[in-house]
Amino acid sequence: MLTMQEDLQYLLRLSKVDKKVHDLKQTRKDLPQRIQSLRDAIGREKSALDKIQGDIVHMQTAIQESQDAIVTESASLEESSKRLNNISTNREYDAVHLEIAAHKKNVDTANAQVLHFQQILENLRKEAEEAEAAYAKIQAELNPELEALTTELNGIEDRIAAEAQKAEEPRAHISKKTLSMYDRIMTRRGNPNIIAAVNHKHRACDVCSRNQTPQRVIEVAKAKQLYLCEGCGSILVWREDDVPALHAKEESPAPVETSAPEAAAETAEA
Ligand SMILES: [Zn+2]
Repeated sequence: MLTMQEDLQYLLRLSKVDKKVHDLKQTRKDLPQRIQSLRDAIGREKSALDKIQGDIVHMQTAIQESQDAIVTESASLEESSKRLNNISTNREYDAVHLEIAAHKKNVDTANAQVLHFQQILENLRKEAEEAEAAYAKIQAELNPELEALTTELNGIEDRIAAEAQKAEEPRAHISKKTLSMYDRIMTRRGNPNIIAAVNHKHRACDVCSRNQTPQRVIEVAKAKQLYLCEGCGSILVWREDDVPALHAKEESPAPVETSAPEAAAETAEA
């Protein structure tokens, strides 16, 4: 049968494992979102590049259509010009001249369009170069992190299982009563942050900040039974960095080092 002191030592080891498992589960929950936000950032540059490349294709089509129009209208212009030679009436003459003027106008418009579209195409090609550079840059920046996070996510189930395995050994040592108290509090709270370490210098609960009374701290130091924080119900354990002070206190009833801060604390509370 273990003393409460030893019980609590194993409980602290168990708590450390449970916290690690909890952190890993939190990471498992967070990773997909972090991965997605990296993918989104890369995807935004890709979309920008895709849009420009789409615009380039669209502009090339527009140029081709205008060039086709020049060919068609030039052929029609030639046809109309030939008809001028076989004209018998003034009315027909006027009509053919109107046709010729219209075809010439269409050819001029199409030529102007080709020039205009070629200018736009040139600008788009510059934009595409910039977008390609931006896309390459963000990939270089974010891909290593993306790969690392993806690897981490893929391996996290094994890591959780391996870490959870480590809980078995301390669990096997802790008394049933202490263990069931610990499990009950953890289940109720939904996280493993349920142990507060106190001593004479540090009387505030790590979880809820409630100051424990000096009397309670002395009881926790003695570790004869399980004590809970009156504020939040966390399990109170002795904070190790004051162990020499505790021993000094046990050996001589009124050592100067510990009685002075306690007296000050009591005065402060009153
Ligand atoms: Zn508390």
